[in-house]
Amino acid sequence: MFADLKIELPFFKEKNSAMIATGFLKGIPSSPGIVISKALVIQPEIFISSNDKVSSEAIPIEIERLSQAWKDLNLEFKAVMERIPESNPGAVNILETNLLIIKDEYLQKSINTFIYEGYTAESAVIREFEKQKVYLLNSRDKILRERATELDHVKTHILSALKQRCLQYSIAKDRVLIAQSLTTTDFVNYKESGAVAVVTEAGGIASHVSILARSFETPAVIGVKDATGIIKNDELVIIDGFTGLVIYNPNKELIDKYQDKIEKIEKHRIALGKLAKEPAITADGRKIHLMANVDRLDDIDSANLVGAEGIGLVRSESLIINYSTIPGEELQSKWYREIADRIYPNPVTIRAFDIGSDKYVEGMPNIESNPALGFRGIRYLLSRTELFKTQIRAVLKASVNKNIRFMLPMISDTSELVKSLQIIDDCKKELSDEQIDFDAKIPIGIMIETPSAAMMADELAELSDFFSIGTNDLTQYTLAVDRTNELVSDRFDSFNPAVLKLIAMTAAAAARKKIPVGICGELAGHSAATTILVGMGITELSVVPAMVLELKNRIRKMKYSTAKKNTLKLLKLPDSYQILKILEQ
Ligand code: PEP
Ligand code: MG
Repeated sequence: MFADLKIELPFFKEKNSAMIATGFLKGIPSSPGIVISKALVIQPEIFISSNDKVSSEAIPIEIERLSQAWKDLNLEFKAVMERIPESNPGAVNILETNLLIIKDEYLQKSINTFIYEGYTAESAVIREFEKQKVYLLNSRDKILRERATELDHVKTHILSALKQRCLQYSIAKDRVLIAQSLTTTDFVNYKESGAVAVVTEAGGIASHVSILARSFETPAVIGVKDATGIIKNDELVIIDGFTGLVIYNPNKELIDKYQDKIEKIEKHRIALGKLAKEPAITADGRKIHLMANVDRLDDIDSANLVGAEGIGLVRSESLIINYSTIPGEELQSKWYREIADRIYPNPVTIRAFDIGSDKYVEGMPNIESNPALGFRGIRYLLSRTELFKTQIRAVLKASVNKNIRFMLPMISDTSELVKSLQIIDDCKKELSDEQIDFDAKIPIGIMIETPSAAMMADELAELSDFFSIGTNDLTQYTLAVDRTNELVSDRFDSFNPAVLKLIAMTAAAAARKKIPVGICGELAGHSAATTILVGMGITELSVVPAMVLELKNRIRKMKYSTAKKNTLKLLKLPDSYQILKILEQ
């Protein structure tokens, strides 16, 4: 929306003795809130020399970093190889050669020797690889000389694997992160180290970093062009996650103004707190099941605190992010059980791993040119049945208290659901044979997040216990707009009548079959969307815990009968501008 707009207002430039200029940048507001704090600029490329040294106490840390990087790389290569079809032996050969180098114990030992001499892991890698390269390039054997190129390739991989590990998360305490882009893992690590706000140059409004920022209640502005070039480290910045404004070197007047706003927001938050124990019911008595989306165990305490009536979406991929690998059945089951217990007797909806596309998980690099249309969600799970079955068994084992629902992501036709249900049945049978207790009637629902699923909602409803509409992906696929791409973020519009009509079709099909239908995408929390969604017959809304009270407030003030009538009219309007104009009134 504002991605290209950089405002430099000369009259705001402070004329103090140091002549520090106040500057204004505009981006896309992606997580609400205001923060005034110092910037931590994360430069995309860290210059690495072959001479960097560490103190003797830090040597074990460097050894550990390197060992972890080898492990990551191993996983990464194995995952890529699994995804290459057998019909492409050339690619498999290249990767196998790379993997041989990665597994070479002599190479690893030689790099460690450099670390014991006091070099950083990066410098040690560069030194050893250069040594090996010279040796290979001088060889008489043509094949060995060619391997020198492979060495370069592997060196780049290992350096980038190391970079993942060497980011200095701890220096992020109380800082506003200014970055070109952030992976979800980086975000979590920085956040846990105390970062207070985020500004990125890249990113779409429905990207996972945006969603995480909202879930962590971290103000964020994305799509800020050249932020890392303009804002300097340690500069004071104001982030306005409501408007998308980023102010660097603010003058006293601006600091006071925003301080004032922060106090007002806090007062409003305290006032809303009184609603925590009240039900989410419209003024004319229609009950809406207001739930929370969670990524982490801590989110459940926040969900309980604000009076959420259950968990509408657990993005189980966050388990993989936490453990940097896919945990086994027992560990997964323990985690699901913990969530179910903490929210009991309310229900929790665990979504099967939605791996792929923008949901990067370590060790699973993307080799697809068009990942959003590729190997993701249920497609991935159905081709990795062992992994899928492990998760299903873990969920079933955790379901003994009968408050777990299981949900399948990215369903795009009935056959995917039929196959998944068959696998779930197989797992149930296995557990029964093993005499392991589980909820035999565990509700199995699906995400409606592709236009094809919305159009086949009647047929899918025959096979599902509930629907949950993923408006982030539904918008992406209906409008052909990449949810992560800031260049088209002004076109990512969930109020587009095409998207709204698909939601209405889904809600109607669910009503005919009398199954619950919810929204767990970001649209559920949009302040203008509540009346139209409730008016369409949506029975559940699930948002990040921080938004639950605000949404409850809106539900309690609206009338279902009026919303229903208005919705019919709104769905006849030709564009989102006209729809929003009425909804925002
Ligand atoms: C969605 O697509 O709206 C959704 C809730 O799933 P995710 O954002 O995890 O893709
Ligand atoms: Mg989705």
